[in-house]
Amino acid sequence: MQEPPLKSISILVPMFNEEAVLPLFYEAVDAVLTQLPGYRFEYLFVDDGSTDGSADFVRSLAQRDPRVSLVVLSRNFGKERAMLAGLDVADTDATIVIDADLQDPPSLIPKMIELWEEGWQDVYAQRRSRAGESWLKRSTSRWYYRVLQSVSRVSIQADTGDFRLLDRDCVMALRRYRESERNMKALFSLVGFRKIALPFDRDPRAAGGTKFNYWKLGNLAVDGITSFTTLPLRLSSIIGVIVSLAAFVYLVIIVARALIPGGESVAGYPSLMAVILFLGGVQLLSLGVIGEYIARIFSETKARPVYLTSEVRLGTPGHAPGRGDDVPGAAGHDG
Ligand code: UDP
Ligand code: MG
Repeated sequence: MQEPPLKSISILVPMFNEEAVLPLFYEAVDAVLTQLPGYRFEYLFVDDGSTDGSADFVRSLAQRDPRVSLVVLSRNFGKERAMLAGLDVADTDATIVIDADLQDPPSLIPKMIELWEEGWQDVYAQRRSRAGESWLKRSTSRWYYRVLQSVSRVSIQADTGDFRLLDRDCVMALRRYRESERNMKALFSLVGFRKIALPFDRDPRAAGGTKFNYWKLGNLAVDGITSFTTLPLRLSSIIGVIVSLAAFVYLVIIVARALIPGGESVAGYPSLMAVILFLGGVQLLSLGVIGEYIARIFSETKARPVYLTSEVRLGTPGHAPGRGDDVPGAAGHDG
């Protein structure tokens, strides 16, 4: 009987100085992939300008394992752009984005594929708990999602990272978003498609330290808001209107008091200072908000490339080494 060709799946791994954890990662993922003989897998490592031996490890891995692809970016572009670099070369039926640090449990992969086979196009892992992350990080991220959701019209998946399975249609759609100020969480929501959550418990990092700090996260948060919505601009207009109205009412009161015989007209230095300082603050804030958007316009109009690669070596999707041929349908081992 002629079997249909096996479906192919890319495991897309953005990595930045992950030398310490990569061997563990490969081992853990491979243990899962060998359980799934019905698919041809490809490892797609994107080296985001690592300064350690991450790329060298993947190169040596590619010698042993023909399923390993490597894209090396010319410098550190950030995870968001590194992911796009991977999506750009992924030529498989589905792509699974996963962190190199094993915080995204590979054991979820079979379930993701199952849901994909049921017809879901974007199977995203949703965190139930976040072991090993500080209370501050947990609560800031929770509030951030809440704020983002309340200001935007598209629905945003809370407690969701980049760990997900995307089918070919989703990948093709994401490739068309070429803005350089990227926020993948926003883009995943914006493209739509049939989405389903897969709850899991997030583990602490297996090795190495986090590549994000609060400064980076804060910037990512501002990018997320400004790429999703222009509400801050609207807010500063609204504040402007309210303050002007209040100022007008106060003006009427002052004039009236000056006209009434016996009313004082000169005193009022403290209130004057208060009003000047308050208005000055509101003006600076509004200017800052406008500036944020102008900065985005500025960087997008330059239309710079989102990332640059210095090396692309593509493998071929297949089975785990030692599990029969790479030729689809040639081996009868998956009985
Ligand atoms: N990463 C990247 N470029 C960066 C920062 C991080 O490709 O500039 C990768 C990193 O190697 C890891 C993933 O993105 O595979 C998530 O990073 P990390 O674990 O540091 O983030 P956290 O889990 O703390 O949010
Ligand atoms: Mg991590």
